[in-house]
Amino acid sequence: IVEARDVVLSFGQTPALRGANVSVAAGEILAIMGPSGSGKSTLLHCLAGILVPGSGEVWFDGARVDTMGETQRSTLRRERFGFVFQFGQLVPELTVEENVALPLLLGGVRRAEAVARARTWFERLDLSGLERRRSGELSGGQAQRVALARALVARPEVLFADEPTGSLDSLTGEQVMDLLVGTARQEGTTVVLVTHEPRVAACADREVVVRDGRVTSLVPGQVGP
Ligand code: ATP
Ligand code: MG
Repeated sequence: IVEARDVVLSFGQTPALRGANVSVAAGEILAIMGPSGSGKSTLLHCLAGILVPGSGEVWFDGARVDTMGETQRSTLRRERFGFVFQFGQLVPELTVEENVALPLLLGGVRRAEAVARARTWFERLDLSGLERRRSGELSGGQAQRVALARALVARPEVLFADEPTGSLDSLTGEQVMDLLVGTARQEGTTVVLVTHEPRVAACADREVVVRDGRVTSLVPGQVGP
């Protein structure tokens, strides 16, 4: 459902992707591993229509993403994708409930309905009782569960997650990952997940490794000369 073909992207003189190929099936949970600076986030951003490659192709559900205009790509991101990042995704001044309802409100859903739909996620993501708390007052694990609720509330077809547990201790990170994977499987959501942690990647259906801007399906220790 999501695919990169020979994607090349440089930031000025710095090559970030040098011909990256990856394909994610509908409903699949794919983990992207690899060393720091290897191009994982850049690849995720290309697949998600946030960055446009210098050359190569990006496809989503039978449509070329890299040739779309910015307006079309931002509509695609808002209507069909969900995002979870490592830090700072919530609006700290808003309550938990308002943060989760935000994508629906931006999509034109009436306030009462948006809040009602947001509330259905609190129990599933172990957030009951936190609805009225300001997001700036949450613990790291609570904040990431709220971010996950917000990413899923509009029922995206693809969830893009870049080190969603990177700022958490290992136990909290595991709990967030269990919720992410469990919810995605229940919903049939396709997941593209960047992570450094082998334990997190082990929850995925498949792992790929990015090295020097290219994708290999081998795990790091097995890469040949
Ligand atoms: P990490 O594990 O540390 O998050 P990563 O694998 O996600 O690393 P990227 O963020 O994709 O790596 O970066 C790939 C390369 O592109 C690096 O050399 C990085 O310095 C460079 N790069 C990434 N973003 C930018 C940017 N906005 N401007 C300039 N260079 C960038
Ligand atoms: Mg990164």
